[in-house]
Amino acid sequence: MTEDMYSMYESMGIRREVAAFGDAVAESLTERFSAIDATAEYNQLKVVHAMQENRVSEACLFPSSGYGYNDIGRDTLEKVYASVFHTEDALVRPLIACGTHALGIALAGNLRPGDELLSAAGKPYDTLEEVIGIRPSRGSLAEYGITYRQVDLLADSSFDFAGIRAALNSKTKMVTIQRSKGYQTRKTFSVSQIGEVIRFIKSIRPDVICMVDNCYGEFVERIEPSDVGADLIVGSLIKNPGGGLAPIGGYIAGRRDLVENAAYRLTTPGLGKEVGASIGTNPAFYQGFFLAPTVTASALKSAIFAANIYEKLGFSVVPNATESRHDIIQAVTFGSPEGVIAFCQGIQAAAPVDSYVTPEPWPMPGYDSDVIMAAGAFVQGSSIELSADGPIKPPYAVYFQGGLTWPHGKLGILMSLEKLVEKGIVKL
Ligand SMILES: *Cc1c(COP(=O)(O)O)cnc(C)c1O
Repeated sequence: MTEDMYSMYESMGIRREVAAFGDAVAESLTERFSAIDATAEYNQLKVVHAMQENRVSEACLFPSSGYGYNDIGRDTLEKVYASVFHTEDALVRPLIACGTHALGIALAGNLRPGDELLSAAGKPYDTLEEVIGIRPSRGSLAEYGITYRQVDLLADSSFDFAGIRAALNSKTKMVTIQRSKGYQTRKTFSVSQIGEVIRFIKSIRPDVICMVDNCYGEFVERIEPSDVGADLIVGSLIKNPGGGLAPIGGYIAGRRDLVENAAYRLTTPGLGKEVGASIGTNPAFYQGFFLAPTVTASALKSAIFAANIYEKLGFSVVPNATESRHDIIQAVTFGSPEGVIAFCQGIQAAAPVDSYVTPEPWPMPGYDSDVIMAAGAFVQGSSIELSADGPIKPPYAVYFQGGLTWPHGKLGILMSLEKLVEKGIVKL
């Protein structure tokens, strides 16, 4: 590291030893980072190709209002998503409030009373419990007479093929598969593992709808679950595919009839995709999708950097320093509340927004322990931006994700290390 770089880091409050330690780790990752850059290059071409093929024009960036009939920007963007994901159709809307909403309408739009939903990847993401009615909730699928079954993963986080075979029955209409581990301790599935389980399911029940919760997975690999047989893929625009620029939104891509069914639930039967003004979100959606491959690469580098820094210091990290990656989430186990708090305070101190506030643990609704969250994001709650959170309970792990640029992700991790050194939790 050059002298002017050290003094720049020093001006940010990062001591020389921390910067030097980080730099040595970063140096050791050159080869891995160039493989990530190659994936970003491939995916960048995929996105630009889709934009050209669908003749994205200046008019696509104009806002629409009211009903939003003939919103060419919105309709063309949905074609671009469909081209990138190699699907028949897509629904990409600012009216989709978040990832949970997108998953909720994909499910509710395609299931009918008497149908059964099967989760092939064990317990789904927390917020889906109330959508499905695993935890009783008003308006859940359960209230509409849609039943639910779940096949837990095996001890090594792999799919329980025999269990899935046994659970599929004449009522099973849809299977949901969550790609990312989210905030669980299992492993994240690769796209090829997802393809394997979908082939297995289709060999038994070719007509069953396979939906993949693709949150945090987009553009991490060169292929997506829709390339290996998923009928629907679903995600949030304040994660990978929004590229940090989308201020809101979600997407559903897949088979035309299934996407339409979801649209009839998002708006109303009869109206479907025809209504829903984009009210000025098109420029951010297009530009964000354009940036998404490199932004995802930055988040991945930041996660790998964190894994290597903290594994080297003796902490347990999931995924570990050398494992291949299938999403952008990094868990680090500190084993003490002080470690979790110092890490999150470092991430906050590195933020472009609200860097001067000090996050503290608090009893968040829906959690069974205090939780500390670090997020100094341009878009509230955006987790493609540098962010971290940790429940204050054993094993005292933090979940770290995002980083719109690699230099910023690096700064965040170095700042977290600085705080741990300051508190005497880590010695270099
Ligand atoms: C984030 C996430 C969701 C839900 O997204 P929200 O935007 O928070 O509603 C669902 N599944 C997974 C795996 C996620 O990571």
